[in-house]
Amino acid sequence: MQIKNDSKCAALAEKHYGSMRDYDDCVFICIGTGIGGAAFLNGEMLVPKRFSGFEFGHMVINKGGRQCTCGKRGCFETYASIRAFRNKIAEVLDIDNDFSGQYLREQLLDFNNEKVKEVVYQFIEDLSIGVCNLIDLFEPEIVVLGGSFSYYEGNPVYDRLLEKIKDKNSRFNKNAIPKIELAKLKNDAGIIGATIRI
Ligand SMILES: [Zn+2]
Repeated sequence: MQIKNDSKCAALAEKHYGSMRDYDDCVFICIGTGIGGAAFLNGEMLVPKRFSGFEFGHMVINKGGRQCTCGKRGCFETYASIRAFRNKIAEVLDIDNDFSGQYLREQLLDFNNEKVKEVVYQFIEDLSIGVCNLIDLFEPEIVVLGGSFSYYEGNPVYDRLLEKIKDKNSRFNKNAIPKIELAKLKNDAGIIGATIRI
């Protein structure tokens, strides 16, 4: 019995039926309430013998930074999860954070508002640091971004993130930029993947 969390289930679904189907070396990053994911090399999902591993959200991107629920400080997900992003947007706009993801994407991300723009740029920078760390570690052919972030197709946030990742000074390997795509199966991936055996 292997340990599969939501992010791993979603990764398996994307590998079998979604955006990673035609690739052997893939990194899946689930960006939602927290950040999780999985890596595939030579078509196989990497699975440690003990525990689930691949706690992408808990790699530290800011030494001594924000307190994470895991006990460490400065974890990737305390800066770059959708939850962290929406909380920060709510904070600068001084509103409750009970708005929908769609409302956030379509109404609240106003680049003419300097405070919002600052939060958005910081989010993009933090997210790109984590994504580029994972690119440097695994050198995948493709990186797929899932969870609530998979709904950011066509949004300027996603376009700017791509620019930032593609910048040659964001990654170790200057010559091989992996494909970056959003998860095809969106938030259904977790349920679909739960039925797939590793
Ligand atoms: Zn943590």
